[in-house]
Amino acid sequence: MYDCPVCGFHGIGKPYERWPPPEGLVLTPPYVVQLGNPSYEVCERCEYEFGFDDDPGGSSPVSFEEYRVEWVASLPRLTGPVAPGDP
Ligand SMILES: [Zn+2]
Repeated sequence: MYDCPVCGFHGIGKPYERWPPPEGLVLTPPYVVQLGNPSYEVCERCEYEFGFDDDPGGSSPVSFEEYRVEWVASLPRLTGPVAPGDP
């Protein structure tokens, strides 16, 4: 089992052929170029699809970092404004 490079979820299969990436390698999507064949697994926590989200054909690739920012922004807030009438 490996950690998801987007959200840190521990429990994904090997996302790419060469994983973990070599130390010091700056990753640029599509990751197939640097890391080999993707698993096309979808992370069950953040729903990143290795090999698809970084290489989506017609649309622009999304890096782990970009996806993480969007994923974090989409999470429900743990503390929200207190509704009127709450004690
Ligand atoms: Zn994930």
